[in-house]
Amino acid sequence: MLLDLDKTELKEYVKCLGEQPFRAEQLFDALLQAKKLNEITNLSQEFKNKVSKDYPNFCIKKKLVSQDGTTKYIFQFVDGEIVEGVLMKYHYGNTLCVSTQVGCRMGCSFCASGLNGLKRNLSAGEILQQVLLVNADQKQNSKHRAVTNVVLMGMGEPLDNYENVVKFLKLLTAKDGLNFSQRNITLSTCGLVPKIYQLADDGFSVTLTISLHAPNDKKRAMIMPVAKRYKIEDIINACKYYFNKTGRRFAFEYTLVSGENDKTEDADELASKLKGLPCLVNLIPLNYVKERQKKPSDKSKIDAFLERLKKAGINATKRRTMGADIGGACGQLRQQILEEEK
Ligand code: SAH
Repeated sequence: MLLDLDKTELKEYVKCLGEQPFRAEQLFDALLQAKKLNEITNLSQEFKNKVSKDYPNFCIKKKLVSQDGTTKYIFQFVDGEIVEGVLMKYHYGNTLCVSTQVGCRMGCSFCASGLNGLKRNLSAGEILQQVLLVNADQKQNSKHRAVTNVVLMGMGEPLDNYENVVKFLKLLTAKDGLNFSQRNITLSTCGLVPKIYQLADDGFSVTLTISLHAPNDKKRAMIMPVAKRYKIEDIINACKYYFNKTGRRFAFEYTLVSGENDKTEDADELASKLKGLPCLVNLIPLNYVKERQKKPSDKSKIDAFLERLKKAGINATKRRTMGADIGGACGQLRQQILEEEK
């Protein structure tokens, strides 16, 4: 697929077709604008026929706009598979949450994305396609590119699709492409330890966020199967390594599940583990997923948990829930659509 190629590779591709080099520029511009093949006016039909089998199908299958302005997208790929993306508007810019896999094989107990396991990986271009489509879709509102920040926090586990994800990071940060700064990109992982080391060694410095969700390995294993493979201590060591290599502070996501990980003792245990680390804890109220038997913690419990962390000297915040009225949580909307289509 053409979006998997960087500009140099695209030039090579056009050369192999026996076409003039400037055609590569035109093609690249059309791709960046998420134009459908029939919307490109400066390329001949003959040329379009040659590239059509490799051209992405830019398709927004569904779009829901929340009362708070959060927009949820369902993107569809050539093989019919669908994934979600969410655009959140903040005062400093717009953050797009992209998916990296169709489904997920991590099996976290409260998450909708992994309900049917992993269907397939997304290619680098298919991840990029989500950014390009949202930029194009939002263009009517603004002349500027809509997406200013990207978080790899949608469906899938990014580090379980490592090669495609790092290629995507290269495409997104390419100087002659969208030219994103790594500072404006956040990668969220359930903690695949060897891949965290690899990401640092491969020279990336995106913001790293770890989905922790528990103060110790035993509790974590009850919520997240991946905890049986990697200990919290090993994850913290990998994060320190990442920090030393990149100078980037890291964050921990902690979704509060009623009766499972939301006691003040849990907060104390968490604080003692994280004390002195260059990190932030993000508390996330659980988004209810009907297929999962988990309940969100009461607001008072969340506030108490937050206070306890702060008192212990931990840098912590509570995440605002956005788009709750449109199936805001990871994988929820896709699940709804798959059910409707049954
Ligand atoms: N696999 C990656 C990224 C995708 S999940 C990871 O684990 O980080 C993105 C974040 O949403 C994770 O922190 C995940 O635990 C959280 N999440 C998933 N389902 C949720 C739900 N129902 N309510 C609240 N947070 C949820």
